Amino acid sequence: MNIILLGAPGSGKGTQAEKLVQDHNFEQLSTGDLFRKNINDKTEMGVEASKLINAGKLVPDDITNKMVDNHLKNNRSDGLIFDGYPRTINQAEVLNDLLKSSQSKIDKVILLEVDEEKLLERLVGRLICPQCKRSFHVKNRPPKTPGICDYDKSVLITRPDDSPEKISIRLQAYEKETKPLVEFYEGKGNLIKIKADNLTSQQVNESILKALEL
Ligand code: AMP
Repeated sequence: MNIILLGAPGSGKGTQAEKLVQDHNFEQLSTGDLFRKNINDKTEMGVEASKLINAGKLVPDDITNKMVDNHLKNNRSDGLIFDGYPRTINQAEVLNDLLKSSQSKIDKVILLEVDEEKLLERLVGRLICPQCKRSFHVKNRPPKTPGICDYDKSVLITRPDDSPEKISIRLQAYEKETKPLVEFYEGKGNLIKIKADNLTSQQVNESILKALEL
């Protein structure tokens, strides 16, 4: 089964993907993580994408789709969680074609709905482990030792695009480019909406497992 986690920045896609990988043997495909790896490795694409990412803007579809295509060619095409991809209608159409060519498909799309006030609160206090990519939060998910990853003891960082100004640009990009995907997947009949504002991440996880019948 392949699933897409859809939702605004800060809606909990990464945290939920982490739990599904841990407990249900899924593999996470996060385009944000793939871009950040390219930026760290200083690949040509990473250098090009970093300007846009650090400005809070989306990377063009052709670059993003190509990166996903390469990833899928070298990895399994089932048991995947797409986190942060697709983010545009073009990407959704390309993903359908890519999966079709390996006799695979998207089975369910989970939309995590969170109101803007909560999104802002979550993004502003977010801390990321540059090593294992897990995310923490100064208030909602504090690491056991302040500033240090619980799992591999790396020093946690704040993403450059988690500044208030960049967050606002990213939320605008979500509204304009990504929200139309809700209707797109509703039309395909495989969208599940979870109102996640007032749920703990454990409760969201339980709702997802129920929806996926796991
Ligand atoms: P994320 O870690 O998912 O929040 O992604 C971080 C940034 O990477 C985004 O703000 C975009 O600049 C870029 N990015 C990630 N995924 C995509 C995508 N599917 N399409 C375009 N840009 C993306």
